[in-house]
Amino acid sequence: MSKKLVAGNWKLNGSLGANERLLSALAALPGVEMAVCVPYPYLAQAKSALQGIALGAQDVSEYASGAFTGEVSAAMLVEFGCRYVIVGHSERRALFAESDAVVGRKALAAQASGLVPIVCVGETLAEREAGQVMDVVGRQLAAVLEVAGADAMARMVVAYEPVWAIGTGLSATAAQVGEVHGGLRSWLRTHDVDADGVRILYGGSVKPDNAAELFAVNDVDGGLIGGASLVAEDFMAICRSAV
Ligand code: 13P
Repeated sequence: MSKKLVAGNWKLNGSLGANERLLSALAALPGVEMAVCVPYPYLAQAKSALQGIALGAQDVSEYASGAFTGEVSAAMLVEFGCRYVIVGHSERRALFAESDAVVGRKALAAQASGLVPIVCVGETLAEREAGQVMDVVGRQLAAVLEVAGADAMARMVVAYEPVWAIGTGLSATAAQVGEVHGGLRSWLRTHDVDADGVRILYGGSVKPDNAAELFAVNDVDGGLIGGASLVAEDFMAICRSAV
């Protein structure tokens, strides 16, 4: 596996002034690939401030162009220098009613334009307690596989983000993460996806004090970082743990 990938997801946070302070305190590190996924209006600001750190967006339209008010296409993101785009984050699935099928079409649209989609999957606490973790993440992956196909999927990034661990301060344990990541890689293999090169990121309350332990787990190829990516020292410390 190549270097680990650590991507910050700023979510709905930022201002020109705050971003300037945050971006100027980030520096690329050898041995880890770093990325920040910023709100659309700040793409240009982040692009011009970042050196050696990849740029990403947090969502993308499934459509290429036309009468779709409020949407942003994959080609537009490419024009603004994006390499990555998050698709199917649980906040979009739960709060904006994105179905598995929509997430699949967004992943395909992103990849067809040359972006690398970061496809988020993960179960709720109720689903975990009901023993349905692999059913849920398998169903979410299957919707992407169905529209994109196995070759395309081998070039995507998958992020396992258990919903109950997001923004709660309650990270999944190393054992839980290892079990699901191993399960995701075997799911990909059994569905004819060349899974060895697929980076599988963990996201959910990753902080400087738990990052090293989580990144050491088998099949963890990096992280997707929410709250801690808004604090430069914390994000840099997490990235150092991935080297
Ligand atoms: P937190 O790191 O704030 O838990 O958020 C994780 C996340 O949702 C990243 O996409």
